[in-house]
Order: sequence, then structure tokens, then C-alpha cells
Amino acid sequence: MADQQGSADQQGSADQQGRTPDGAPDEAPDEAAVEGFFDAPARGSADELLDAGAQDELGAMRHSAAHVMAEAVLDLFPGTKLGIGPAIADGFYYDFDVPRPLTPDDLVAIETRMAASVAADHPFVREVVPFEAARAREAAAGQAYKVEILDDLAARAAEAGEPPPEASFYDHGPFVDLCKGPHVASTGRIGPFKLLGVAGAYWRGDEHRPMLQRIYGTVWQTQEDLDRYLWRREEARRRDHRRLGIQLDLFSFHDISPGSAFWHPKGWTLYRTLEGAMRELQRRRGYQEIYTPPLVHQRLWEQSGHWDLYREHMFFVEAEGQTYSLKPMNCPESTYVYRSRVRSYRDLPLRFSEYGKLHRNELSGALSGLTRVRHFVTDDAHIYVRPDQIGSEIEGLLGEVHESYGWLGLTPRFTFGTRPDKALGDPALWDRAETLIHEAILRAGVEYRVKPGDGAFYAPKIDIQVEDALGREWQTATIQVDLVMLPERFDLHYVDERGERQRPVAIHRAIYGSLERFIGVITEHFAGAFPFWLSPVQVEIIPIADRHVDAARELAALLDARGIRVEVDDSGSRMQNKIRLAQEQRIPVMLVLGDREVEARTAAVRRRGADRGAGQEIVPWEALADRLAEEAAARGVD
Ligand SMILES: [Zn+2]
Ligand SMILES: [Zn+2]
Repeated sequence: MADQQGSADQQGSADQQGRTPDGAPDEAPDEAAVEGFFDAPARGSADELLDAGAQDELGAMRHSAAHVMAEAVLDLFPGTKLGIGPAIADGFYYDFDVPRPLTPDDLVAIETRMAASVAADHPFVREVVPFEAARAREAAAGQAYKVEILDDLAARAAEAGEPPPEASFYDHGPFVDLCKGPHVASTGRIGPFKLLGVAGAYWRGDEHRPMLQRIYGTVWQTQEDLDRYLWRREEARRRDHRRLGIQLDLFSFHDISPGSAFWHPKGWTLYRTLEGAMRELQRRRGYQEIYTPPLVHQRLWEQSGHWDLYREHMFFVEAEGQTYSLKPMNCPESTYVYRSRVRSYRDLPLRFSEYGKLHRNELSGALSGLTRVRHFVTDDAHIYVRPDQIGSEIEGLLGEVHESYGWLGLTPRFTFGTRPDKALGDPALWDRAETLIHEAILRAGVEYRVKPGDGAFYAPKIDIQVEDALGREWQTATIQVDLVMLPERFDLHYVDERGERQRPVAIHRAIYGSLERFIGVITEHFAGAFPFWLSPVQVEIIPIADRHVDAARELAALLDARGIRVEVDDSGSRMQNKIRLAQEQRIPVMLVLGDREVEARTAAVRRRGADRGAGQEIVPWEALADRLAEEAAARGVD
């Protein structure tokens, strides 16, 4: 039950890192990341260490389960030193300094002791103790990490010119712990639980400090909730895109370039197909594609503000005594194309799309498959509009989101982030822009929620989230109405009807966001069974015997000429094996050719995932080619 792999998955899931329970970084794809940088949590601070993570009743129950787990561990391993034990999304953990590595059998024993403590229904009792008494109590118990937390609190109070604070303890039955709370009333209130695994965790996240053993557990109000969670967790593991990437021969990762995917032929076909669909939409919508250099002089980043705010996330290259950076985003360079000639009010909106190659210096420890990478491409665009065009442009963009997410059967959710406290730019312009955006959202008739103050410092924004097949929410796309960063810092103009120079507004928009990340998300959403239009191999032709191979090749050529991605399984293996293999590769359509089919120039059609006993349709080749080409062009889900 508690293998190391499972716990490694969980390790990336601590709620303090702003991640969803299944290791999905809750990361905005583009400029939004600049803001996240300001909000980086003070990891390992005394505040964080004392935070029980219990925001509500379920959280209090989860944190209470962590206390009960610590009781069991102390009971089984006397002398254990306690780290911290907060509630997290879907469960809880506690960090222990135990004499030896814990095994799955240990977890079973710990669970048994926990069950006994829950059955005993010990009340949780809070006690407030003067600082010195609290410190003496933890020191006497040999709890060095707790003493350290208390000393930190005292030091911070001293800095503020205050006396050391009182400390609160919670006890239940034989166990007592330094803790802010809150807790449930008694251990009997703790619902059905399960321990999930053990992972190493440095004390205070610092690699120079001792490595503790972190036990993860999950607890729910009902057995049904617990069962559903465990199913979801197992299913997430089965769908893990890093596993499917290898299994389906899509991509791989290698230490020589951490955080950058090596795309295999099938994965690259998928990538290009997704990109091609967006390019086609952009062509219809009047975008013009540009391409700007990945390596740019530091001056550009000083002008854009990234040098001050974002430098530590950038890679640098020295040449001839000058500093260049690999671009972490496309935005500032698009202004060079804009400014290369005088723009008239008639030229706007000017929609420049760019599939630029971006690099961000993520910590190697934070990298995770395709969902957190160092190198990626976004389906980015910068749209320059007159202020009066904001509303109609936003409406068009919401339509783009609906159309493209519809290709994948995903329902986008919209979050409107308004002016933050530290916004740059003219408040009147902000108000006007927000009103226009709001009206556009209402006209588009989409459901949305408003997050006051959640806009970027230079732009109100609409973030787009999707929920995947496991109910996990992913932040994907973003639309930001930039009033300041590009227009003012790069001094952009257009000439109005009266021949006067005016400031345009720049809209940053990415619909898939990072293509890498998006592919990671949809790989898990579809568990590798991509819709027909997107599948790297759409059709597998299965000749029953060697004498049918020539006809199979002829049919393949016919389909290939219609733009269908087709493979012939001309191996000598038996038909059932060929079908099984195609199913494993999640190929949506299998065409089986035997004597009768070859003679009549037909094929027996099998759909991916169809019941074994389902009747097979026999279709003439030409009709088949028409039907499949139509299906691919329609871009929908199966
Ligand atoms: Zn507590
Ligand atoms: Zn941008």
C-alpha cells in the first residue's frame, strides 16, 4: 500500500506550495507567473511551521488525525522527535525523526494504533502555557525541533520589542503537542482514514538540515468519500502523463536537459496537430504570426521590468562582454514588431501570434514531467487595440476559448481578476477597461466568477481553468488587458482620425497556455486515448495474414492521401495480438482485412474501446476514407 513512488508523488503536493493534491502545479502559464513571484511563501518560517493548515472542519479533522498518528509513532518508536504535522489538501502529514527507515509494515502497525486511539474517543484539550514553561516542557521531552520553533518565535518577538509569546498545547489521551489548533472535539470525531506512504523531507525544507520521514495520510468524513479519493488517486497514477509518455512513445526526459521534453515522432505529431488547429483558428480570426529571437540583450528586460522582478527565473548567456537572456516570455519583443512602422487607428486590432521558444529557470527539484518545465512554447499572442475596441476583442477571445476547448470536450471556467492594490497606470483607464471586459463577458454569456484584486499589476485579466476527468482543476489560459507594461514602458502609439498620437492597449492572450503543460493535462484527462482528430496514429490497418499485406498498404495509401495518419501492422503476429497492441496504443480506429474484405475492397471497422462482442461494421474503402477525413476535420471528441 505504501510504496516509495506513491509518496514521491505526494511530496510535490504540500498545500503550502500551492499545488493540487495530485502534484499538479497551480501555475499560470504566462505573465501571471511574474506576479506569483511576489507572493512566494516564506518557506520554513515559524509561522508556516505552526500553521495547522486547518481552515475548516474537515481541515481540523485532518490535522487531528496527524496528532493521533504522532501519538502512535511515539508509542511504537519511543524517543522519536516530532517535526510538524499540518492538514493538507485531501489529508495530512507529520514529519518524524525516527531511528530507522519506516516500512509499509510499520504503517500498518501505526494505523492499528491510530484506530485504537480513535475508538477511545479521547477529548482534545487546549492548554495555554507561559513561554518559558512551554520551552522547558519540550526541552525535557527531548523535542529539539519544537524547542527550535519556540526559540524562533521568541526571537521574532524580541525583534519587535515584545516579550516571548505564550504557547498553546493540545493534548488527547497520553499525547500532547505544541499547536495553534484548531482540533475536533475528540479523537472519535476522526473519520475513516488511511496512511498513504513515507517520503524523506528536510527539516524546514532545508537540505542542510536533517532529513526527517514524512508520513502522509488521508482522512474523510465517510467511508464512501475515502473510497472515492483512493480510487481517484490510483486512477491519477494510472493516467500519469510521465508514464503514458513512455508507454505511448510520445516523449522522454533526460538529465542532460532537465525540465525539457525530448519529443518522439508520435508525441511531436500530437504537438504539431494541436498547434496546427490553433494556427488554423488564428488564421480565420485575422492573426498574423511573428517570430522573435529567443536570445535577447539584458536592456530589453530592464525596460520591461523583468530584470527587477523576474531575473532569478531567467537563464543568462555572456557574449563579447554583454549579457543576454533566453526569453522567459514573448511580450516585450512583440513591441519591436509593432514599433517598426507607424500604426494607424485603421490597422487596429493588430493581432500578432507567436510560438516562441521560452525558457524559465525553475529549480530542478520543482520540475515535474510536462507540467513544470524549463523549456516550453505557448500559443501566445499580443493584440494591440484602441481602448474602445477592448470589449469586442475580449468577446472574440472568449469565443476562441470556447471553440478550441470544445475540440477536446472541455468546459472552460472563467475567473475575472480586477485591479490589485499595487496596480500601475491610470485608475480611470482601469475602471473603463474593467467595465468593458465585464460587459464583454456578459455579452458572451459565459459563466464566470470575479476575484477582486486578482488582476496583474499592469492588467485586469481573465484566467481560464478546466476540470479534468478526475475532477482536478487546471489553470490553462489567460487573457490580460495590459494598460501599462507594453504600451507605456515601450512607448507605443497609433495615429488617430485627427492625426494625433494615442496609446494602444495590449492584450496578452494564450489559449492552451504552455503547449507542453497542456499536453500533460490532456494526456491525463484522456488517459492517452486522444480524440480521433488529435491521435498521433489515427488508424491501424490489421491484415489477418501475410497475403493481405499488399491490400493493407494500398488502403493505407488511400487514407494517407486524405491526410489520415495511418499505420499497417505487417508483423507476423496473430490478428488478436495485433488488435490488443493497437488497443494498448489507444489507436482510435482499427481496420481488419481478411480474404473477403480484400476481395470486396472493404474493411471491418473496430473502434477503440468497443465491446469485444460488438458487431463489426464492414465499409467500402472509399466511403471509409470520406467518413474518417470528415471526422478528423470536425475536431470533436469521440
Ligand atoms: Zn494540533
Ligand atoms: Zn504577453
